[in-house]
Amino acid sequence: MKNIVVQKYGGTSVGTTEKIKNVAERILSFKAKGKNLVVIVSAMGDSTDELIKLAKEITPNPSGREYDALISTGEAVSASLVAMALKQKGQEAVSLSGRQAGVHTEDMHGKARILDVKPTRILEELKAGKIVIITGFQGVNSFDDTTTIGRGGSDTSAVVIAAALKAELCEIYTDVDGVYTTNPNLIKDARKLDVIAYDEMLEFASLGAGVLHPRAVEVAKAYGIEIHVRSSFNYNEGTIVKEVLKMEIKNPVTGVAYDENTAKIAILGLSDEPGVAGNLFTQLADSKVNVDMIVQSNQVNQKNDIAFTVSLDDFHKAKEITEALAKKVKAEKVVYDQEVAKVSIVGVGMVSSPGVAARMFSMLGEKGINIDLISTSEIKVSCIIDRKLTAEAVKILHSGFDLAKK
Ligand code: ASP
Ligand code: MG
Repeated sequence: MKNIVVQKYGGTSVGTTEKIKNVAERILSFKAKGKNLVVIVSAMGDSTDELIKLAKEITPNPSGREYDALISTGEAVSASLVAMALKQKGQEAVSLSGRQAGVHTEDMHGKARILDVKPTRILEELKAGKIVIITGFQGVNSFDDTTTIGRGGSDTSAVVIAAALKAELCEIYTDVDGVYTTNPNLIKDARKLDVIAYDEMLEFASLGAGVLHPRAVEVAKAYGIEIHVRSSFNYNEGTIVKEVLKMEIKNPVTGVAYDENTAKIAILGLSDEPGVAGNLFTQLADSKVNVDMIVQSNQVNQKNDIAFTVSLDDFHKAKEITEALAKKVKAEKVVYDQEVAKVSIVGVGMVSSPGVAARMFSMLGEKGINIDLISTSEIKVSCIIDRKLTAEAVKILHSGFDLAKK
C-alpha cells in the first residue's frame, strides 16, 4: 500500500481529553491530504508511572507477566480515546493493541525487543478506509502474553511499524519544537536544527537530550526511515532525522550535549597485568552498572590508574564493587567525584576536519575550566568537568563553535 504515514503522539500530547481532541484535528488534517494514517500513541501524561506505583503498593517483586499486563494498559486508554475522538468527528477509526497490530516481541517481560511486525490487520483496516490507532510500548510474545518493550518505548514502536509498512514518513510528535543545538532551556539562543544525522541523534539521545528514544533512532537508521520530530502544540516544521551526506555539512560541530547525572571513580596504583580491567568491568557489567567513559593512564613503575564514569544512580553499587576489587588486587587507593558533569560536542563533520578537539580544550582552558577526563569517538569529543561549571562550559562551546541563532 502507498502513501502510508505513521505518526506517534507522546504522553504530553495526549495528556488530557482536550489534548486528545486536538490530536484528532491534526490527524484529520493529514487524512485530508489523502494519506493512509497509522497513529501510535503513548499513555496519557504520567499514567505509566502511576500504574507502576500501584504495582509497588502490592509487591516489590511483581511477576513480569502481570507487571506487563498492568503497565501496558495506559496505552490502551489513550488509543481508544483517540479512536473515539476521530469517530466523533465523523472519521472511521479503529484502535488496535500491540497483539492485534501484529507486533511480536521476545518472550522476556519489561524490556522485550520487537522481533517482527506482521501488519496484516493494520493493512486490512487501512483498506477499509479507517485510521488505525495502535498502542505503543507493547507487543505479544510466543506464549500469547502481552509484553512491554522498555520505558519510553513507543517511539520505537512507531519506527518499527513504519518500517514494516514501508511508510513514506514517520512523524514523532512531542512537546518540543524539534532537536536543538543544545538545551534551549539552558542556552537562550540555541537554534532548532532542520536536519540531524542518525549518528548525531544517537549521541544526543544517549547523552540525555531526551527528545527521541535511542533505540528508535537505531531502528530508523537500520531501515533508512526518516523521522520528523515536531511539536503537537503548533504546526511548525520540526527536525528531520536522516542519513546526512558529507556534502551537506557546513560546520564540524552540530550541537553541544551535556549530562549532569554522572560520577567518576578512579582506581589508582593498580599493578599493570593482564586481566585486571577485564575483571573489574565484567563485575560491573554483571551488576548491570552501565559504564560510560573509561580512561587508563600510562604505566609508571609497573603500575597504572583506571578512571571511569557511571550514572549517579549506579554510583554506590559501582563504588562497592570497585573497592572490593581494589582490595583484592592490592591497588593503592580508590577515589571518587560525585560532583562532575560530562560536556560533549557532537558532529558528523568532525571526521573530516582536524583540530576540533583542540579548539574545544582551548575554549574551556581560556575560561579556566579544568578538564578531568577526555574521551573521543569519530563524531564526538566529551570532557568531564566540575558540575558547577556545566552551564558556563556549554555556553562557551555553543558560541565558540558558532551554533547560536543568527
Ligand atoms: N508509556 C510508556 C512510558 O511511559 C511508553 C512511552 O511513553 O513511550 O514509558
Ligand atoms: Mg511516556
